[in-house]
Amino acid sequence: MHKKVQLYEGKAKKVFATENEEYCIVSYKDDATAFNGQKKGQIQGKGSINNRVTNHFMQLLEKNGIPTHFVQELNATETVVKKVNIIPLEVIVRNIAAGSLASRLGLEEGVKMSTPVLEYCYKNDALGDPMVNEYHIYAMQFATREELAYIAEYAFKINKILIEYLEKCNLELVDFKLEFGKDCKGQILLADEISPDTCRFWDAKTKEKLDKDRFRRNLGDVSEAYEEVLKRVFGQ
Ligand code: UDP
Repeated sequence: MHKKVQLYEGKAKKVFATENEEYCIVSYKDDATAFNGQKKGQIQGKGSINNRVTNHFMQLLEKNGIPTHFVQELNATETVVKKVNIIPLEVIVRNIAAGSLASRLGLEEGVKMSTPVLEYCYKNDALGDPMVNEYHIYAMQFATREELAYIAEYAFKINKILIEYLEKCNLELVDFKLEFGKDCKGQILLADEISPDTCRFWDAKTKEKLDKDRFRRNLGDVSEAYEEVLKRVFGQ
């Protein structure tokens, strides 16, 4: 499979067309942004780590009955995926209070939620990705009731599968963001990435942050943290 024209360039990835209409190629960059693009930088090696970690999780999820866009890893930073129309929602699952949830509800970071929390944000940079509920989603026609029911069911299943896997890696899954898309047949597929850019991973014992919060909060050793996640996820 070969890259044809560039279809899209986002903050952390580029997307290219291929000779097959149903597929595209995602190319991961080392570029990092935070706070809706206000903070910019580079994380050495991030592109290849996020590519490999994402593909590992996508294959784990497929094996456990979650339909994903994953097709084939091409090289260190590039992967063939099924072309989908992205549903403009950030689907966030939270197990432990952190980030915006901690500030919004006045919780200390690290407090365990008694049940997993599901949130939706409207993917719109100009508006700062505002939080929406299911009624906004139906009214704005981002997804139907049936589609959102699938998305919620998949999100909780994914949470269970990832928690169980990450426990063995000595990592705590604090929270994460998913994106879903619809393929040419209208099927809902898990798309985008599952990586230290989009998940909060804490060392299970020391609670050390091993994710993009090191970049957001200038904690140092950013590349090292991403490397550590790669090693642990691949069982090294
Ligand atoms: N997240 C993301 N992209 C976004 C916003 C959030 O991947 O545009 C992830 C983030 O890495 C974290 C989870 O979603 O794992 C919850 O993020 P939160 O709402 O706490 O926002 P933040 O504190 O990252 O601004």
